[in-house]
Amino acid sequence: MRNPWQFWIGLGLLAGLAVWWFSGHLDAMTQGKAKPTGEKVRVRLLTEGGEVGPVLEVPKVVRSDKEWAARLSLEQFRIGRTAGTERAFCGVFHDNHKKGIYFCAGCGLPLFRSGDKFDSGTGWPSFFQPFAEENIGEQTDNELGMTRTEVHCVRCDMHLGHVFPDGPKPSGLRYCINSAVLGFQEEGVAPELETIDLAGGCFWGVEEVYSKFAGTYQTEVGYEGGWTKNPTYREVCGHGTGHAEVMRLIFQTKTTGTRKVVEYFFKIHDPTTWNRQGPDVGDQYRSAIFFTRPEQESVIRDVIAQLTQQKKFSSPIVTQVDWAGPFTPAEEYHQKYFQKHGGGGCHIPQ
Ligand SMILES: [Zn+2]
Repeated sequence: MRNPWQFWIGLGLLAGLAVWWFSGHLDAMTQGKAKPTGEKVRVRLLTEGGEVGPVLEVPKVVRSDKEWAARLSLEQFRIGRTAGTERAFCGVFHDNHKKGIYFCAGCGLPLFRSGDKFDSGTGWPSFFQPFAEENIGEQTDNELGMTRTEVHCVRCDMHLGHVFPDGPKPSGLRYCINSAVLGFQEEGVAPELETIDLAGGCFWGVEEVYSKFAGTYQTEVGYEGGWTKNPTYREVCGHGTGHAEVMRLIFQTKTTGTRKVVEYFFKIHDPTTWNRQGPDVGDQYRSAIFFTRPEQESVIRDVIAQLTQQKKFSSPIVTQVDWAGPFTPAEEYHQKYFQKHGGGGCHIPQ
């Protein structure tokens, strides 16, 4: 070789690049957990009153393929994460005429309203405009030998379908969407009971304090938010699952409401520490709220904004706010632990 030193410098640079790449991706590769990127997106949420909310900056939802696989069906994964298409007239929503909100099955972001839906005759749910323009991302798609405009959820990049310029007035647009990547919440059918999943350290203690909360209808402790199916306590404690210890709370919609539940939650734990509550350290002890209805999210984010504005905590609130995934009930001996064994945890209402 004419210049062997160039070869060694080149090899050294390549090795350096490889080390840099691996250091950034090792965690994701070994544990299946995608690191938060810190990237934010501007979206509009559904308000408690069923209206389109103001523009809000929220974290982008980034999940590894393992995490997506743990919370989506095979069909949802094929369509939403690999830009697939469901067969015409086979989806559950192409003929749905109920009033309500269609939201992203990946992150709970509201995407379309029933009032903007029309019968296109194509066999796929069709809308002439989105819930909010901010919530839909677009990109050019040159697959199948033609140029089309692909549309996806701007927050979690779930592939939704395509938009075509042959829709009805007033927009002239036709959003052709796969049913499989949508959830639907009927309008005007407020449930008597709602569910929300709360992670704030050891679930024994969280369940104990919510057993004394006036709005509690029912509690159950379990695991949620990771990338393995049907985890056990032993696996979760081994830090290899990404699941948090959560308490599933069922509460009265009218007499209690999401706001009271969430305000109480911020009185019983420290939302400013990553993966830690007092002496309990580990990702299963992170602070997180998993919402099950799109309008719950706007309430949760509003409470956090108010607490931040009032400077209730000396450090920023780091609570993860995420669409609920599969909830695995914990083993029976963890349920109502302090009621069975006496004593109490370190969760004390402030
Ligand atoms: Zn989404």
